[in-house]
Amino acid sequence: MKCRACREPAVIDIRRHNANFCREHFLRLCRDQVAKAVKEFDMLRPGERVLVAVSGGKDSLALWDLLLELGYEADGLYLGLGIGDYSDESGTYARAFAASRGARLIEVDLREEYGYDVPTGARAARRAPCSACGLSKRHLFDKAAIDGGYDAVATGHNLDDEAAVLFGNVLHWHDEYLARQLPVLAARDGFPRKVKPLVRLGEREMAAYCVLRGIEYQVEECPMAEGNRHLHYKEALNQIEARSPGAKHDFYFGFLARASERFRDGIAEEQGALLSCERCGAPTPSEVCAFCRLVEKAAGAQPVTIGRRGAHR
Ligand code: SF4
Ligand SMILES: [Zn+2]
Ligand SMILES: [Zn+2]
Repeated sequence: MKCRACREPAVIDIRRHNANFCREHFLRLCRDQVAKAVKEFDMLRPGERVLVAVSGGKDSLALWDLLLELGYEADGLYLGLGIGDYSDESGTYARAFAASRGARLIEVDLREEYGYDVPTGARAARRAPCSACGLSKRHLFDKAAIDGGYDAVATGHNLDDEAAVLFGNVLHWHDEYLARQLPVLAARDGFPRKVKPLVRLGEREMAAYCVLRGIEYQVEECPMAEGNRHLHYKEALNQIEARSPGAKHDFYFGFLARASERFRDGIAEEQGALLSCERCGAPTPSEVCAFCRLVEKAAGAQPVTIGRRGAHR
């Protein structure tokens, strides 16, 4: 197995590119793919400040590393979600990476600052854990980016994530989600720009990137992920990809190029109807935003503790 660029021994094969790469040329490919996505979708301009949503997993740490390598002023934001040992360990990886690069990591702990954690909040609000978690993350990343004067929030969604979400949204024809499934969402009143610079890179490449760059990351799955439908969609797409390399790429980028535009009308209608939350000022369609309602229900609720395998105790 030889590198496509230099013919030296390769360390990774990428079937959708029908090519193998040595360490140096693989790392260059990753940087080039991020730079290409940033340019193609006008995600970031030189000199802009970007806040990276850091979970301690491979994607977000690779993303942070890649943006720093590409010369962006990129700070990290880690949210302490309070999901047992998983969160404690994830925070350790995020801090270690920041320290190794001399990068700035902002930390927000849900329990310390808002009086709840994800398992407790989910039960108190009768939401699925990923729903309470996603709501908390969206709100707090938006808030940190606006408060900190960042130009954009970057998340580590990769091609596998985006293809799986698209698969689910198409399977059930969720028009409103299809309208928002873009690699860039422009800033608007109260919301920062959101960008996904890893959309041209897959999950396996991100794991390889971290290993080759010596980045240690949380390898465990979140113990609350079990009910997450996207995992099944990923498995289904992996089977298709194994027989038809490049299928995920064609599915996702074909959607962006040919279909995404058709779902956008819904966004414009929704945008016109937003008020300011009377408690926190965040944009919301109701008087009190969903995050403030979650905090109200969750704060003071009996804490739910969670084991490594997700067993509620
Ligand atoms: S799997 Fe669900 S609960 Fe766990 S971090 Fe992701 S969104 Fe949050
Ligand atoms: Zn090479
Ligand atoms: Zn609010």
